[in-house]
Formats: sequence, C-alpha cells, structure tokens
Amino acid sequence: FFFHSLQAKMSRPVQARRLEGVDKNIWVEFVKLAATYSKVNLGQGFPDFPAPDFLREALMGALSGGNHMLHQYTRAFGHPPLVKVLAQFFEKLLGRDLDPMTNVMVTVGAYQALFCCFQALVDEGDEVIIIEPFFDCYEPMVKMAGGTPVFVPLRPNPPKDGKLMSSADWQLDPAELASKFSERTKAIVLNSPNNPLGKVFSRGELGLIAELCVKHDVLCISDEVYEWLVYDGKQHIRIASLQGMWERTVIIGSAGKTFSATGWKVGWVVGPDRLLQHLRTVHQNSVYHCATIAQEAVAQGFQRELMLYGKPESYFVQLPKELQQKRDWLVQSLDGVGMKPIIPEGTYFLVADISPFKSDVPDVPNSDEPYDSRFAKWMVKNKGLAAIPLSAFYSEAHKNNYTNFIRFCFAKEEATLKAASDILQKWKQEKTS
Ligand code: PMP
Repeated sequence: FFFHSLQAKMSRPVQARRLEGVDKNIWVEFVKLAATYSKVNLGQGFPDFPAPDFLREALMGALSGGNHMLHQYTRAFGHPPLVKVLAQFFEKLLGRDLDPMTNVMVTVGAYQALFCCFQALVDEGDEVIIIEPFFDCYEPMVKMAGGTPVFVPLRPNPPKDGKLMSSADWQLDPAELASKFSERTKAIVLNSPNNPLGKVFSRGELGLIAELCVKHDVLCISDEVYEWLVYDGKQHIRIASLQGMWERTVIIGSAGKTFSATGWKVGWVVGPDRLLQHLRTVHQNSVYHCATIAQEAVAQGFQRELMLYGKPESYFVQLPKELQQKRDWLVQSLDGVGMKPIIPEGTYFLVADISPFKSDVPDVPNSDEPYDSRFAKWMVKNKGLAAIPLSAFYSEAHKNNYTNFIRFCFAKEEATLKAASDILQKWKQEKTS
C-alpha cells in the first residue's frame, strides 16, 4: 500500500505552468538537420572563420599569464576591466557620462541579457510589442515572464523598377504601430540591425518608435548585437541617443557577434541605473556571473578597439568591409539562380525569395507546415545546403503570411560561400537540362 501511494504521488504534473506553449524551439530541429545532412551550412548564425588574432592572443595571455586569479570568481555584475572599458566605449558612442558599476552589466551572451530584461521589467499581464520578423526567443521569454507579446509586422514594399528588394523596403506602417501601444504596453523590443532581414532602422523610423515610447511611457529593449555590421556606408543609430530615450532604454550587445566568437557567450547591457538595478537582481539570483577569463580577453579586445577607434586597422571597421563583400557574393550567387535575395543593409544574414522554386519541392496535401519550412528541410536533405525558414521568425498567428522566404548566414569563409554557389549552380543546370 505504501509503495502504491508513493507512485501515485509521482504522477502529478511536473512542469511549471510558465513553460506551457514555449517548449518548441526551431533551432533544435534545424541544427540537427544541418548536422545530419548539410554539406554547406548557411543556417545558424555564426562565423566559420577564426576570431581575430588579437582576441585569441588576449585569451591565451589571460590563461597562461601571471594572474591566476583570472581562474576565480570575479565581480558578479561584470569583471571590472570589462565594465570599465565598455563604459568608456559607450560614452564615446552615446555622448554621455557612464558609471561602469551602475550603467553596464556583463551577461552570458546577449541571450541572458534579454532574459534579464524580460524577467526584471515585464510583469503578469504586461504587453510587450515585438516587431516581426524577430529573433525567435523574444516571444517565449516574454511569455515566461507572464507577459503578452503583441506583434507588429514590417511590411514589404517591392520596388516597382524590377530591381532587387532591399531590407529597407520592409517598413512599419506608422498607424498600425501606433495602434499597438496602450496603457497595458510595458515595453517594445527593437532589433536594429535586424535579424533575420538585415534591416537597419532609419533615423525617421527610430524617431517614430521613440515618440510612441515617450508618449505612452514605454520601455525600449534595444537588441543591438549587430551594431558594427552595417554596410554601404549606412550608419547604425542608437535609439538611446534620441530625445527622451536614454532613461527608458536598455542597450544589449554581444562579444560573440562583435568579435566573431559566438561560443564565448559574453554579452552586456548598457542603460540607466533605474533599469539596470532590477536586471542585476535577476542576474545575481540566476547565473551570478559569466566566465572571468573570457571577460578579461573581451576587455582587452575592447581596449584595442578603443585605441584604434575609427581607424582602418580597427576590427569594427575591417569586419563589416569583409562581410559586405561576402554579402555581395551570396547576393550574386542567389540572383544567378533566380532565388531573389533581399539585400541586407546590416547583420550577416540575408533573406531570399524561394517562390520560383515551388515546383522543385513535392507538395504535401493537407500539411499545415509552411512552404518555406518544407523547402528548407527538402533543400538540406536533397541539396546539402542548410538555411532557415523565415516563418520561424514570426508568431504563430502570422507565420502563414510569410512562407516564401528562407534566411542564409553569410559570415562564412570564401570556400564555404563558393561551395554554396556551386550547389546552386548545379541545381540550376539540373532544372534547365
Ligand atoms: N539577439 C539577436 C538578434 C541575435 O541574433 C542573437 C544571436 N543569434 C542574440 C541576441 C544572442 O546573442 P549571444 O550569442 O551573444 O547570446
């Protein structure tokens, strides 16, 4: 009898309610597919070229140098050399004085920075505006915090002259955006440059968002992890520098993107103490801090970049130059086979239109899986080329409106991009022969 009652107890639900509806994650499925089938992986966003020498040397120096304390705990909210140099750097970018101890916090990648923001700032019943398409984790993170995501799409306006579309052709409808703000709105998530489109929001677009934030007393969670990856002489504008925005904005950054070292998982937030003090509460009660030695090396990377700021030797000047060239190669390869690329103004992603390829992919009657998802799976299995369906970057309610696109990552070695181009060329020949 005793044994029986113990067993009965174990059959109660074990899952916390806050996990309802957030258990699916497209990366698990697509990363596995890419690992199993891909010859060329342009799916998940990470460089396949090495991180810069100066960064690797900084890590090796930290590891083998005289300071054995770099193997121990450091300050919870950020290793002092890193928060100091981040404060100096962002003082320059924002044109305001920053206190490294209260205006900067180091996180385990930008991912944890986002998690801290939602946990610290979003309450049960709060609404959070998310601009579609979006980096997919925003939605479950809002929900786990008890909030309600409210989506507003960027709408494509194809150019009339037959030219290729640009990410700048995807725009917010100002009236539609304004209609999403109410007294329930706690925050808006802004991601410029935007993953997956590569859109770099213009000053006008940011001004509109800022005006609505101020009018409705709304916070702005500004995910700027691709801040240095901007092309064609465009400028990344920080919404925190606009009138009335510093006090209500948290800027999020990532050493993974900035220094091509995504596996290090060092990120940060910059913002006013009145917001960051609550992020620190979440941080101290969850991860406490991230690896000291990685923080030390990233600090040295930033010290170098501060010294070389704006100079041709700066990595923040060189990396976008190299990536712009890679972007142009991929644009050419895709355009050459009729997979119409949307030219990104920033990031290392590119979205392409796959509607002319419908006849290649077997139709599945009555399937509720969007075409782009079926296409991406078919492509990796049959052509060995991995990409991510754009519908993965939309809410459940809107994902069926945007099913003709897939996203490629072009932060890849020349040989990788060449191999992708060869696959596409061969495919085209097979189609026409
Ligand atoms: N935000 C965006 C828009 C991203 O694309 C990513 C990474 N793909 C992150 C945040 C997470 O960055 P990290 O690797 O530093 O956690």
